[in-house]
Amino acid sequence: MDGYLITDQGISEAISREEKQGRKLACARGCASCCKSHETIPVYPLELMGMFWYATEVLEGELREKLKTQLRNLEALQSCSFLVDNACALHVVRPMACRSFNVFNTQCAVGEDAYYTRRDDVLTPIKKYTDDAFNVMLPFYGVKNKAERRKMIKTGGMHQMAKVMRELNWSSLADKMDAFEK
Ligand code: SF4
Ligand code: SF4
Repeated sequence: MDGYLITDQGISEAISREEKQGRKLACARGCASCCKSHETIPVYPLELMGMFWYATEVLEGELREKLKTQLRNLEALQSCSFLVDNACALHVVRPMACRSFNVFNTQCAVGEDAYYTRRDDVLTPIKKYTDDAFNVMLPFYGVKNKAERRKMIKTGGMHQMAKVMRELNWSSLADKMDAFEK
């Protein structure tokens, strides 16, 4: 969670800087075209553990039931597995990539990936915070040495651990959620 705290601090600071320049953030609850149109969102192993933990042990009530049903019927789904009623069911533990993607001026149109259609409207995260977030996560992957961590961040070596969220077998998560309830 420390990595997410650092990421969120960095995003908040980057947004504030832009807002001071007169720009207006377009992202808002219920706006979720990005969760439908982005098909290659990366997720790191530690993030996957957090998502599994949250879905099985924390998520409650109607949202939990809706997510389980959705996870068992992914074939027809035209969005991320976790988009339920146009909001992220795992918002608290959503991956860094989701936290970092923010758009100014106009909300994304259906099917639009603003990174390609209007890059200038997409927030550029502050590198120092992103690097710090990876730095606190790397020891969980066994990279404890400070110089090694610095090198992996500099060369982008840690991105080799990332998986594409949409390509993972999320239906098994519904079974794990059921098993936890017994
Ligand atoms: S990135 Fe685009 S679609 Fe996603 S919340 Fe922001 S404005 Fe809406
Ligand atoms: S994890 Fe949540 S925020 Fe990220 S794409 Fe999926 S629904 Fe959207």
